[in-house]
Amino acid sequence: MNENIDASLSITKHWKLFLEIIKNNVPALSYNTWFLPIKPIEIKDNILKIQVPNNYFIEWIDEHFNTLITQATKQVLGEEGKLVYIIYDDFIPDQEKDDFQSAPVEKNSISVSENNIKFESHINPRYKFENFIKGEGNQLARAAAIAIGENLGETSFNPFFIYGGVGLGKTHLIHAIGNAVLSKSPEKKVIYLSTEHFTVEFVDSIQNDRITEFSNFYKSMDILIIDDIQFLIGKEKTQDLFFHIFNTLHQSGKQIVLSSDKPPKDLKGLNERLVSRFQWGLTADIQPPDYETRIAILKNKSISYGIDISSEIVEYIAMNITSNIRELEGCLIKILASSSLNSKEIDMNLAKKIVKEVSTSREVTVSIDYITKIVCNYYNVEENKVREKNRRKEVVMARQLAMFLSKQLTKSSLKTIGLHFGGRDHSTVIHAYNSIEDQISSDATMKETVENLKSKIELGTS
Ligand code: ADP
Ligand code: MG
Repeated sequence: MNENIDASLSITKHWKLFLEIIKNNVPALSYNTWFLPIKPIEIKDNILKIQVPNNYFIEWIDEHFNTLITQATKQVLGEEGKLVYIIYDDFIPDQEKDDFQSAPVEKNSISVSENNIKFESHINPRYKFENFIKGEGNQLARAAAIAIGENLGETSFNPFFIYGGVGLGKTHLIHAIGNAVLSKSPEKKVIYLSTEHFTVEFVDSIQNDRITEFSNFYKSMDILIIDDIQFLIGKEKTQDLFFHIFNTLHQSGKQIVLSSDKPPKDLKGLNERLVSRFQWGLTADIQPPDYETRIAILKNKSISYGIDISSEIVEYIAMNITSNIRELEGCLIKILASSSLNSKEIDMNLAKKIVKEVSTSREVTVSIDYITKIVCNYYNVEENKVREKNRRKEVVMARQLAMFLSKQLTKSSLKTIGLHFGGRDHSTVIHAYNSIEDQISSDATMKETVENLKSKIELGTS
């Protein structure tokens, strides 16, 4: 008990000191916007864990306050001190803030299995049905998801296969199923994984001779939720194993939920027996939101971010950003960020400027895997080497370049990029990025190489 009190005193003390330094060095508005919402979680051996509301925070503060944060960390935690970020991928609506902050950190995300082994369910407690706006484009998918959450194991929607373009709410919806199940029946074994994460864990289990354990673990779930299943394409061994897990779960009436960017029949290159199983239950698509839904989403998000924004501006954004919800959200966050950094009010001019920025920065979709493939080809390095702990010179170079290009050419967060390279930390990605940037500015050959690779990648994806 005393130890706990000591520990929490120590966190508070260190965090206060840290904030003190930041506060003296950044404008008050930036401080309030970017630093006050951060919550210190744990301190252990010079490592301070902090929780930030979402990825934008990490990227924004790393981009704008990197040096200051490094200095403050050293001052507070010593030369070896380190900050570790934990993300909750959404802002917390004001009305929920209080009970959220007094709750244990991973409130909804730890499940306890039969033999009392704790495991991460990876369910993000912020993605709920309550904050998922209903619209014409998501009606069927949403209704089916709610039904599954309410009556786990009793619907015929098994598997539930949901597909649609990027940023339309697939990930949100499938987490919401998990949250609904956990809040109704906390004893249920719920797990969410991205396909990428599932693959990484699988490879890891092969390396550690733990395949049986690995597959038994997933076979013991009440509901298995796998995101972006299209990334199973080209991963034959993972497909085989997934096939067996799928069968066992399905036969025992356990729920499987999958998301994908395409319907099952269009998943070219995926094993036929999987494609046919994916069509056994219910397949539902999500379409881009219509104008009214975009307005509703914008209003809802601005309330939860605590921004006061006029209907005129909301309508302007909804008129101009039409393709996906992630962009709508990104646009609001940028407006908030820009107004707070420059101490400017949110007016139509600012909105117009940001909308323009968001629309022109829209990139072709290119995947981290594809970038890695092109870069590895160029350096004649085997692709899996860059995901391992290999320190050979050309491997390090290929890895750093692939990370750099992934940051530049995709919308993936630093965390996601790190995960694609053998589960490396986001700070490793920043390090790689800075290192390549330095080399580009000091070395003309390097600059040319990067340009070359970029055009190869863009050619292959257009
Ligand atoms: P996808 O997985 O389809 O690429 P996400 O689920 O990640 O998309 O959604 C992108 C963002 O948009 C998330 O922050 C999510 O909360 C939000 N979002 C998507 N659909 C809705 C909706 N109908 N209502 C509210 N927020 C939504
Ligand atoms: Mg998604």
